[in-house]
Amino acid sequence: MTFPRIGVIGGGQLARMMAPAAEALGVRFSVLAETADAPATQVINEVTVGDYTDYPTLKAFAETVDVITFDHEHVPPEHLQALVEAGHAVRPGPDALIFAQDKIRMRQRMDELGLPNPAWAEITSAADVEAFVSRVGYPFILKTPRGGYDGKGVRVIDSLDEAVEWLNEVPQLLAEEKVDFTRELAVMVGRSPMGQTAVWPVVETWQQNGVCKEAIAPAPDLSDEKARAITEAILTVAGTLEVTGVMAMEMFETPEGFLINEFAMRPHNTGHWTQDGAVTSQFEQHLRAVLDLPLGSPAAREDVSVMVNILGADHEDLYQPYLHVMAHDPAVKVHLYGKGVRPGRKVGHVNAYGEDQQLVLARARHAADFIAGVDVDPHPHPQMPTPKDLRAEGESGTS
Ligand code: ADP
Repeated sequence: MTFPRIGVIGGGQLARMMAPAAEALGVRFSVLAETADAPATQVINEVTVGDYTDYPTLKAFAETVDVITFDHEHVPPEHLQALVEAGHAVRPGPDALIFAQDKIRMRQRMDELGLPNPAWAEITSAADVEAFVSRVGYPFILKTPRGGYDGKGVRVIDSLDEAVEWLNEVPQLLAEEKVDFTRELAVMVGRSPMGQTAVWPVVETWQQNGVCKEAIAPAPDLSDEKARAITEAILTVAGTLEVTGVMAMEMFETPEGFLINEFAMRPHNTGHWTQDGAVTSQFEQHLRAVLDLPLGSPAAREDVSVMVNILGADHEDLYQPYLHVMAHDPAVKVHLYGKGVRPGRKVGHVNAYGEDQQLVLARARHAADFIAGVDVDPHPHPQMPTPKDLRAEGESGTS
């Protein structure tokens, strides 16, 4: 057998972070990128620059690889269907991917599967809004069913006028009750075409203005009962929809249990902790799964892992703060995406791990904020270990 070729559509940071896994597995990896300077193009040799909404471009790219997968969910479903009909291996396939692409289709399917949805309705008219409000009241949440990310396309609605104003711009919206959650959770699974699955521990996530800022693995104080129910739910979804690759399920935790927010069928921000905190990272697992290789162990390597995103602030120079961050905490892991800095833009993340949750969280937050240039106390935590302490514990490779 020869080593297969994987082609990823989309040249963002997720494709970029798949590259080291492809390299280690010894498989060829190429990317169809939107622009010549997209994050993945800086680290991958085989790059085609082209428009993923153009079928001939997709088809020509598919001809050069054995398996097609994705960095994002924006490829038109009809093009993916055409690729499948032309005999290409598209993973995840369009019949599964649609539930990550279209939130109304996803809500319908979750109801059919008996999985926990918030109250929701498809909205195409003012009358639909009024009917929904009579069930849940104001405020409620309105979303674009397709194309949203990082909270773009999600609004809190306080009046009929606000809803109607948006409806005048777009024909169809998804209304959801505004869930009074105690916290947000996420879980990820890898699933291969042969049906093998592997679920990572459930994580707690924190979104700031709709953008993921932190993930803590495993989710602190999550009851075994809830963790089991969440794991069963994601296995039901992955199995029923025949998902291939990795999939994330984002949830709202409530006192009674949890409600499903949405799915991503690709590596996901809430799974970045696995790069340094799990036996198998989500990027390696995604490639193993789309190649139908046996999956790697999803077990955590550490008691606690924390991922904190580096969100662009005022400082454009992300390299200069390395000196402090690396000297201060040699066990912290920095991952940058090669993107220009813009306020609030995800430009990288930091992973930290250890035994004490508060300390790990403080270390990861400090490193991420320091790199972003947020005004932080360089010595924020009285218990923050010095490099010397860490060396003594054997956490650092330096001596
Ligand atoms: P995106 O697809 O842009 O990530 P989401 O649907 O995940 O959008 O929404 C982004 C954030 O908005 C969520 O993480 C959550 O904090 C908040 N949110 C979304 N839907 C609801 C809801 N029904 N109730 C309360 N908060 C919500």
